[in-house]
Amino acid sequence: MAIAADVVVVGAGLVGAAAALGLAQQGYSVVVFERHKPEIRRGKLGMDIRNVALSPASQSLLERLDVWRSINGAAPYRRMCVWEERGTKGMDFRAASVGREELGWILEQSPLAALFWQRLEAESNVELLLGAPLIGIRTDDNVVKLVTRDNEVETRLLLGADGARSTVRELLGVRAEMVDTGHHALASVVRTELPHEDVAYQRFLLSGPLALLPGVEANLSSMVWSQPPENALRRQSLPDPQFCEELAQSLDFRLGAVQAVDERSVFPLQQMLVRSFNPHSRVLLIGEAARILHPLAGLGVNLGFEDVRDVLQRLDGSPSDDPGADGLWRRFARRRRARSQLLIGLMTAFRRVYAASDPGLSWARNRGVGWLDNATTIKTQLIKEALGLGSVAELL
Ligand SMILES: Cc1cc2nc3c(=O)[nH]c(=O)nc-3n(C[C@H](O)[C@H](O)[C@H](O)COP(=O)(O)OP(=O)(O)OC[C@H]3O[C@@H](n4cnc5c(N)ncnc54)[C@H](O)[C@@H]3O)c2cc1C
Repeated sequence: MAIAADVVVVGAGLVGAAAALGLAQQGYSVVVFERHKPEIRRGKLGMDIRNVALSPASQSLLERLDVWRSINGAAPYRRMCVWEERGTKGMDFRAASVGREELGWILEQSPLAALFWQRLEAESNVELLLGAPLIGIRTDDNVVKLVTRDNEVETRLLLGADGARSTVRELLGVRAEMVDTGHHALASVVRTELPHEDVAYQRFLLSGPLALLPGVEANLSSMVWSQPPENALRRQSLPDPQFCEELAQSLDFRLGAVQAVDERSVFPLQQMLVRSFNPHSRVLLIGEAARILHPLAGLGVNLGFEDVRDVLQRLDGSPSDDPGADGLWRRFARRRRARSQLLIGLMTAFRRVYAASDPGLSWARNRGVGWLDNATTIKTQLIKEALGLGSVAELL
């Protein structure tokens, strides 16, 4: 059976689903390929163990897509405390210092993905192809053809949003630089003795960063603990009481004792950047199909949503204009790659600086952090850049 659509999106994770919904709302006919229908997963503490920190820029996109108002349970974080294992100084980022009520929101990933799916199902311009394995992609100047066992889908623009192990990237032979970070992330949800008070905690341990992000409930936080693979696997299999004790110690008991932990999942962490976000005039790669960042800054989905925002802006004319016209995406591809490269470089530098145990370097780092924490203007600018509201973020 042959199907035709203005745009095909492969992958309805958060990024692909946002792109498909936005384009459908702008009048494009969209076919979405997805392997699995998203389902809500919640553990024994009542929360999904996968959570994402969304920036104000991402929240604006969800408002524009009319998704934000249907979200139940976005936990705001108003402060972020960053400190390290060795030093005495830390950094304290407050939303109030940039005139905002919150720095961002923590959202459970699977309920958000399920909500997007529901919205796509209700959208008349969207056709969902569930579980249709993509076995070939053919491109020419005028059209892209996607081949499955049962269908052939023709489109003027293909968005590859199929995540870290992208089939689109593979079928088109797009080259990517992949770097192993030497870390696995151990993710779970924990109940703490003291309430989080809407504060996100990040401690740079010598073996890797440990983040605790506030949940909707006052004493529940989600944890992402990046560390060498052997440590992650050992901590995954520890009995709960021993794990809770190690975690509370590693957090300097900032939230008192850790009273309970949910199931612990391990994610190998790689950083990756594709050679081109626009490998053919009618193909774009977005989200984790295009780049993967270390989760220490919680930027993955946010960067993917920036891709979506830029795609929607570029295609806000008439759907009858060709969305894969020659040269249309060159600037997009350059800018998105440059921003990703900058952030991957920053994340790598952060990890290296904080992993250095040399006493001279530790001293310098501690002095630098103390100075930065008091340098109000620079700190304010840093917060704005991290929120995607600064001049560098806007430029790129
Ligand atoms: C532990 C951890 C914590 C994180 N914390 C944060 C955070 O706080 N903030 C943040 O912004 N980011 C965070 N991230 C990163 C974030 O989770 C990812 O960047 C994000 O999920 C990527 O979204 P995506 O839609 O690009 O890809 P994915 O979520 O991987 O979605 C890809 C979709 O494509 C589908 N698919 C794949 N192949 C095919 C195919 N051949 N045909 C059809 N469908 C296909 C998949 O089923 C999936 O639904 C974290 C990551 C980890 C590992």
